[in-house]
Amino acid sequence: MHVAIVGCGQLARMMALAGWPMGHSFTFLAEPGEGTDCVKGLGTIVERTPEMEGEALFAALGKPEVVTVEREHVDVALLNTLKPHCSVSPDPDAIKYCQHRGREKTFLNSLGIRTAPFHLANNAEELSSGVKALGYPVFVKTCEEGYDGYGQWVLRSDDDLNDLAAKADSLPEVVIEGRVDFCRELSLIAARNASGDCVFYPLTENEHRNGILWSSLAPADAEAALHAKAKEIADKVLNALGYVGVIAIEMFQAGDELIVNELAPRVHNSGHWTQGAGICSQFENHLRAICDFGLGNTTNNQHAAMVNLLGIEAPKEIVSESNVQHHVYNKSLRPGRKVGHLNLAADDRAALEAQLKRICDSLYQD
Ligand code: AMP
Repeated sequence: MHVAIVGCGQLARMMALAGWPMGHSFTFLAEPGEGTDCVKGLGTIVERTPEMEGEALFAALGKPEVVTVEREHVDVALLNTLKPHCSVSPDPDAIKYCQHRGREKTFLNSLGIRTAPFHLANNAEELSSGVKALGYPVFVKTCEEGYDGYGQWVLRSDDDLNDLAAKADSLPEVVIEGRVDFCRELSLIAARNASGDCVFYPLTENEHRNGILWSSLAPADAEAALHAKAKEIADKVLNALGYVGVIAIEMFQAGDELIVNELAPRVHNSGHWTQGAGICSQFENHLRAICDFGLGNTTNNQHAAMVNLLGIEAPKEIVSESNVQHHVYNKSLRPGRKVGHLNLAADDRAALEAQLKRICDSLYQD
């Protein structure tokens, strides 16, 4: 099938790399000025112009059978103009829920799914009253466009509040969240196809540093009941949205409870480990879902880990280890930039964790 992907980053790259063996072809839609190095050589790259919408956009994309996205910050109205011409998955209306942190939390709460307690604020007065209602510390996040820790502030005192309130009038709408006292961060990657079949990968345990995903381990070491709880949350979300494609659900674990932090309506960094461990990857399952094929196996027969390459290249001796898969995104190096990742898989969990620690220590010495 011919698939068009909105976006030209590493997620688009890995979708295309998973799709080529299945006989799919790709067009990538770039915003004006967007970097396209990640997808060079993997299909046609089209830069968006103002005339491109509806039929004109469909034609410019090479008349795809299906259009999908690699990021949630997309023009939903533009995507809706493609719907008379081809299928668009996930549905732009589902993506819309995930573009605004307040809308997303309200939706989750309406399904009986827990989130951090929150208030929305559009000005300094609402910011102060929201913070007072929740009590310090609070996380303040822009409702739209924030990612990887950008557009976020942690307020611990009245001084912090006053500093932020002083610029509140130049800030967009924000959500103020009470701090969740979590023991660890988990995510669940799930897929649903147009026929309504769902599959769920095992819960993944994630380590973030400075708001950016650092490493993942899967399956998370957890009771069967916690895995079941996460699956129930994903099942509710997928079916309530009539969702088609892969979704990632980022959660905090507090005691036996799962508190959802964020939905990502796309393939996700915390699911990169699925490229190894002998299962159908999240990228292949996304394509299977949006092209309405049966979904692939999500139960791994080995323990898996992933470590991001953030602004660094991995040395040859590490990528030469026999159970290390090396993925690079064809991006130039910049401090902290996601330029690749390593996947590891092993039968023995303790050995895998020791290897992950050794590799992380060696990659990030300072
Ligand atoms: P986010 O951009 O929402 O994914 O937040 C980035 C990171 O900040 C998360 O991975 C957590 O480590 C931390 N964080 C965000 N929101 C909260 C919260 N309400 N309570 C505690 N930690 C949080």
